[in-house]
Amino acid sequence: MTDWRTWGSEQLTTIAQEKQAAYDEYKSRKLKLDMSRGKPCPEQLDLSGGMLDVLKPGGRLTTEDGTDTRNYGGLDGIPEAKRLFADILEVKPEEVIIGGSSSLTMMHDTIARAMLHGVYGSPAPWAKLPKVKFLCPSPGYDRHFAICELFGIEMIIVDMLPDGPDMDQVEKLAAEDEAIKGIWCVPKYSNPDGITYSDEVVDRLAGMSAKAADFRIFWDNAYAVHHLTDTPDRLKPMLAACKAAGHPDRVFLFSSTSKISFSGAGVAAMAASAANISFIRRQLSVQTIGPDKLNQLRHVRFFGGMDGIRSHMAKHADILRPKFDAVLGLLASELGDTGIASWNEPNGGYFISLNTLDGCAKEVVAMAAEAGVTLTQAGATFPYGTDPRDRNIRIAPSYPSPEELQAAIRVLILCVQIVSARKLLSAREA
Ligand code: PMP
Repeated sequence: MTDWRTWGSEQLTTIAQEKQAAYDEYKSRKLKLDMSRGKPCPEQLDLSGGMLDVLKPGGRLTTEDGTDTRNYGGLDGIPEAKRLFADILEVKPEEVIIGGSSSLTMMHDTIARAMLHGVYGSPAPWAKLPKVKFLCPSPGYDRHFAICELFGIEMIIVDMLPDGPDMDQVEKLAAEDEAIKGIWCVPKYSNPDGITYSDEVVDRLAGMSAKAADFRIFWDNAYAVHHLTDTPDRLKPMLAACKAAGHPDRVFLFSSTSKISFSGAGVAAMAASAANISFIRRQLSVQTIGPDKLNQLRHVRFFGGMDGIRSHMAKHADILRPKFDAVLGLLASELGDTGIASWNEPNGGYFISLNTLDGCAKEVVAMAAEAGVTLTQAGATFPYGTDPRDRNIRIAPSYPSPEELQAAIRVLILCVQIVSARKLLSAREA
């Protein structure tokens, strides 16, 4: 295959017609395929089925410190759950707060509390300031951006590079502007790029100077243990890096078992320095008597510890890897060398991030939808839902069956080919 960008009008017209015919054939099949969200498939959820049986009436329902999980108490989690998340997030158990079933809720509430009360060490509640801004490495996770929008936090796009956010941009912006109070990071197998931050990026984030004394890194380690290969990426522990750099209070870490056990019915946690944790715990004690300890107990009994998590995640990988390979194989065979698209080959996580030629993504996603293939809205991976280059498409291969996935990706590829050919043609004519 040759680079389409070098083709003449005749060749482009022919290929556009050929691909259009194939697309029309798919359209007539009235497909109904949804690849819009990174949801585990039913087979993945079945892997945790045994968890529903680990607690029995009349069985031992107390924690290792004797707490009855059926009753009130335990504001920040049972000791064995804190230990498990301490291992996942590479912090100490006393630096962990266990939440409910959603880490997104914990992130939302952390921002909400910062707006209303400030964070530990804030000179003023953030909402009292004329302006609050966040750095948003993009493409990124749309729900992070939605939280900022809800609270009126201005988002500043920072480019993603192959080893994390462009730190030259981050350092410059954070050092200059007091209104910049934080940065969103998905540091491992990032959503959607599948990038793991390098040690250098971790150290620069931990060590950089920030004009806002209460600047915080929101370190959403949602895919900490979600490897797809036997040679997983390694992420330098962020809390330890912040402590070493003399900024122990700079980071809030988050994670959950949403894509380990059950999505929406797992266990979520956050972690931070002792000072941050005691500040937050005081506020939480007003909001709740404590989260669901039965669910925490179920999880720790089912997984045991990190070894249990690791072997469980290997089973997830066995289901997911063939799906990722199928997508990557089709992209390579149909789009490789055409110069009209590029994509990542992640070692973990839930997404493949596809970049089209500039100005094509919206049209591609709309065209796929017309043929019954729902993709994440183009632009959703950028603040305010606007991709400045209109080129990024997030592919979520986990949920569809292998057959559905094949069809969906073939449709997507046809749409990329048709829209690109038209785009190149119109450039020739202009
Ligand atoms: N963070 C990221 C980066 C995600 O991709 C997702 C979606 N799984 C979440 C957070 C949501 O996690 P939770 O289910 O714990 O709210």
